[in-house]
Amino acid sequence: MDPVPPEAARRVLTRARIASVTAAAAATVVPGAIALDGGRIAYAGPVEGLPEGFADAERVDCEGRLVTPGLVDCHTHLVYAGDRADEFERRLGGATYQEIAAAGGGIASSVRALRAASEADLTAQSLARLKRLTAEGVTTVEIKSGYGLDTGSELKTLRVARRLGGLAGVTVRTTFLGAHTVPPEWKADRGGYLDLVVGEMLPAIVAEGLADAVDAFMETVAFSGDEVRRVFAAAKAAGLPVKLHADQLTAGGGAALAAAFGALSADHLEYTDEAGARAMAGAGTVAVLLPGAFYFLRETRKPPVELFRRHGVPMAIATDCNPGTSPLTSLLLAMNMAATLYGLTVGECLAGVTREAARALGLASEIGTIEAGKRADLAIWDAERPAELVYALGANPLHARIHAGVLHPATAAAA
Ligand SMILES: [Zn+2]
Repeated sequence: MDPVPPEAARRVLTRARIASVTAAAAATVVPGAIALDGGRIAYAGPVEGLPEGFADAERVDCEGRLVTPGLVDCHTHLVYAGDRADEFERRLGGATYQEIAAAGGGIASSVRALRAASEADLTAQSLARLKRLTAEGVTTVEIKSGYGLDTGSELKTLRVARRLGGLAGVTVRTTFLGAHTVPPEWKADRGGYLDLVVGEMLPAIVAEGLADAVDAFMETVAFSGDEVRRVFAAAKAAGLPVKLHADQLTAGGGAALAAAFGALSADHLEYTDEAGARAMAGAGTVAVLLPGAFYFLRETRKPPVELFRRHGVPMAIATDCNPGTSPLTSLLLAMNMAATLYGLTVGECLAGVTREAARALGLASEIGTIEAGKRADLAIWDAERPAELVYALGANPLHARIHAGVLHPATAAAA
């Protein structure tokens, strides 16, 4: 006889301190119970209000622990091969980006390594990184392609990304980032490369159902606004939402362009101006802040957090996990950086890795808050209040995480 699927388990979390992530900036905590049924949240609130029918359900005593929505890392490039530690060491020794690039380093080295890696090897290397995220309470992660840059290698990347979710007990959303950089073999023919992206890669990816969104890197060192428009028009025609790496190193009008296409998010945004922030607010485009890259590149120009607040642009926080500019696999540390480097409040940090990160993936109605009807994605912490999650550097207070109703104790959270 088949065992009852664990995701169907009816469970009640009792004596929880429930972090309610609401529209208010402050993160409030209320004592209560959370009922789970069939992988969904059936109830969250005072224990007296627990619906009938849960009397015989399995009890999980939280013993007063903080319970937040499962964390959502809404911007990563975590499927890659090898690393760039050598390049990092050369930079510490004084080498410039130009010298490193001339020696075959930089993103070109990640492209070579990914193309050479087998699917099995790429899966194993990427799974190790993904487990470091889940060990800190992540239940949904976005993964971009963009180190393959030929049709076969982009498909390989996205297939690996799709498979990782089942291996790690986490929801994976995939994003096609063929317009990450122009690969070496197309340097003399940018238009030809974009023909390949929109005419061959995208249709092949859509045919296999391998992407949930399309992203591009708009920057002086990557793609122009006109080039991005071409990619976005093709994405829209294929029925896929878009996201954009925008205004990271220079002011290029990326935020406004993203908003014009109704993008789910515009990401980085260090150089975004008020017109860009206003456009994003109007389009409901989420500002995804990536303080790991800001830190690692020793940038000094901060994203305009005050403008985002004033115009009501939702702010999310992500790791940007990638080998070149943000080799970061801790969303808790990204929260601390967003607070320390960018001045976000504790409430903004918690919302930034839950409700707003869900919105940046188009999943606002499905995950990101603790509400009846949403998927049972939760993180249980050895903590009393959200400030503790943002405050500690290098600590991991995760007690357990719950993904689609399945309980993963912290000792096995990464398994
Ligand atoms: Zn990125």
